[in-house]
Amino acid sequence: MIINRDLCDICGSCVAVCPADAIEISEFKVTILDEVCINCLKCIQVCPIKAIKEGN
Ligand code: SF4
Ligand code: SF4
Repeated sequence: MIINRDLCDICGSCVAVCPADAIEISEFKVTILDEVCINCLKCIQVCPIKAIKEGN
């Protein structure tokens, strides 16, 4: 998964929905750990501003 950090406002919705705990959030950025991600695509579906897309 790729996060467009110019769009992401760190709302945390993707972190809350991820079943694999593959998304880390800090005050400044969100990071998806590709080695943990199970490609369920829930983060893409839940992001209100479409800041996440497939790929790595
Ligand atoms: S695709 Fe699924 S497992 Fe991967 S980061 Fe998004 S919500 Fe988590
Ligand atoms: S759901 Fe979208 S806007 Fe919210 S933290 Fe995740 S990537 Fe950023």
